[in-house]
Amino acid sequence: MNRLWKPLALALLAGAGAHAAWAADCATEIDGNDAMQYNKSSISVPASCTKFTVTLRHTGKLPKASMGHDWVMTKTADMQAVLADGASAGLDKDYLKPGDTRVLAHTKIIGGGESDSVTFATSLLKSGGPFSYFCSFPGHVALMKGTIALSK
Ligand code: ZN
Repeated sequence: MNRLWKPLALALLAGAGAHAAWAADCATEIDGNDAMQYNKSSISVPASCTKFTVTLRHTGKLPKASMGHDWVMTKTADMQAVLADGASAGLDKDYLKPGDTRVLAHTKIIGGGESDSVTFATSLLKSGGPFSYFCSFPGHVALMKGTIALSK
């Protein structure tokens, strides 16, 4: 019995592992902390993915009213204008102008210990770049920004 089942079990485990790895390729995690920093300065999106998920985790302890973070993706050329318009929108609007079509994807603003995810179509990154991500909390973009692109 063992001789028959062991190879089958190994094959199932290998299959599960391959599936998990495939799923992980189309998603990433990024941390924000109480020192107003992300832990990544760039994100590479595999061209084989049709959708990509970014999960933002706030690893700090401070509340979102004082050290809130989000993850916002736009064309790099739109970043400053999106920030300028978002600053007056307020925390309850995630410091983004409601309905701003220049925002390609974004999480909500979160505080210490919280997380939020966003999934977007990778076709958004196929033309019109370069693209950036940043935190829209007023002032945070000075430290909290990075670049995102499709990998070859
Ligand atoms: Zn922030």
